[in-house]
Amino acid sequence: MSRNNANGSVVIIGAGIIGIACAHYLAQAGRQVTVLDRGTIAGACSHGNCGHIIPSHVLPLNAPAALKTAMLSLFNPKASFRVKPQLRPSFINWMMQFAMHCTQRRMLDGAAHLKSILDSSFKEFEALNEQGTLDCDWRHSGLLYAFKSKRGFEDFAKTDAMLARQFGVRAQRIEGDALSTFDPALKPDLAGGYFYEQDALTRPDRFAAAWVQRLRDTGVEFVEHCEAQSLEKTDGKITRVTTSKGVYGADDIVIAAGALSGGFAKELACSIPVLPGKGYSLTVPRPAQCPKTSVILPERNVAITPFSDGLRFGSMMEFVGFDNSLPQHRMRQLEESGTAYLRTAPPDGAREEWFGWRPMTWDSLPIIGPVPKLNNAFIATGHGMLGLMLAPATGRLIAEMLDKRPVHIPDAPFSPARFNNSFI
Ligand SMILES: Cc1cc2nc3c(=O)[nH]c(=O)nc-3n(C[C@H](O)[C@H](O)[C@H](O)COP(=O)(O)OP(=O)(O)OC[C@H]3O[C@@H](n4cnc5c(N)ncnc54)[C@H](O)[C@@H]3O)c2cc1C
Repeated sequence: MSRNNANGSVVIIGAGIIGIACAHYLAQAGRQVTVLDRGTIAGACSHGNCGHIIPSHVLPLNAPAALKTAMLSLFNPKASFRVKPQLRPSFINWMMQFAMHCTQRRMLDGAAHLKSILDSSFKEFEALNEQGTLDCDWRHSGLLYAFKSKRGFEDFAKTDAMLARQFGVRAQRIEGDALSTFDPALKPDLAGGYFYEQDALTRPDRFAAAWVQRLRDTGVEFVEHCEAQSLEKTDGKITRVTTSKGVYGADDIVIAAGALSGGFAKELACSIPVLPGKGYSLTVPRPAQCPKTSVILPERNVAITPFSDGLRFGSMMEFVGFDNSLPQHRMRQLEESGTAYLRTAPPDGAREEWFGWRPMTWDSLPIIGPVPKLNNAFIATGHGMLGLMLAPATGRLIAEMLDKRPVHIPDAPFSPARFNNSFI
């Protein structure tokens, strides 16, 4: 199964949105690309997420307030940010490191690094759309933060001012009465909102499917139900990947296995501190009056995304291990929280209930770069809450790194080598 061409071959482990994006930029650079997935293409965390393409989202999870929220969740199983204590050393170490990163300084440092990759990724999305229309519900319609309480609305003013001052991310402030004129789908009694005009949305499953079709047409091979089981090393290089469907050889390997990427740490002799951050979504038929753009409800920690054929509510961040249950109380919580802000409730009809494991790092930055002790292995994971948004820039960085070309944005903050002193 070894395939080679003049520019070399690459095997990517994981056909989530990150693996797909890496395939795009590597194929564009002339590589022969094979993408393996143990399940279906974009069938894991990249399937049912909220589809927000939001360069405005510069603030990482490790805010000072996150620590208190995590502590309180120990006593509240219904909290949208929830930590279930576990005794595994990797979990304890991850949580300790996360706690140490929940400071104002570290949050702002992280935000500065995120800003550079967010801006780059948004430009790549635009370039991608210019290469031909992807049938994926793409809409450059902005993102609205909506508040019910005056206090929530006024408190967010500080965050909004800080985003404008430090990162040049500016919003339009919309006072209560004007909000229901701005979007008649919202209840008339809301306190106000902040509108980030530069943001966009897409339907993530359709976006991935359309992108994969385009890549297949140009010769990229995708192999489903093909689990990478072990990596064979010779002279500091990975030479073969043994899978449930046989052995694959390649000149270079990219690990893009999402929340499961940590499973390769031992074989790569490299720390990959990624925990699953479980989230949920519920997709329902469009209500008679449907929001015209994506909405975030900070008071409920719920996001709403309107698609041409449905409406999605998404939320929750649970650190509960690789749990694959879909509790009905979470679905009710999503629907009740979302509809509390909408003038008309969604009608009865087909619904999709979903969960996904976000690949979370303790510093809220992705892991993109070469494996320190190997010559031909690269990691692209840890994108947390922003994997869809950051996919194109990640793919571009990986292609630049494999070809040893200059990288288009500073890559040190995302390097796997930053975890060298960690014991997992
Ligand atoms: C509720 C929710 C809402 C979200 N909303 C947004 C949003 O609005 N915008 C945004 O940018 N992000 C959002 N995210 C985050 C985003 O979904 C993730 O960051 C992103 O999907 C991660 O992509 P990935 O390719 O790294 O992982 P995945 O999509 O999980 O893909 C990894 C793939 O690797 C495969 N794999 C694993 N192990 C192996 C192996 N051994 N062999 C072969 N294959 C393997 C898996 O089967 C999987 O298909 C949201 C997430 C959730 C849960």
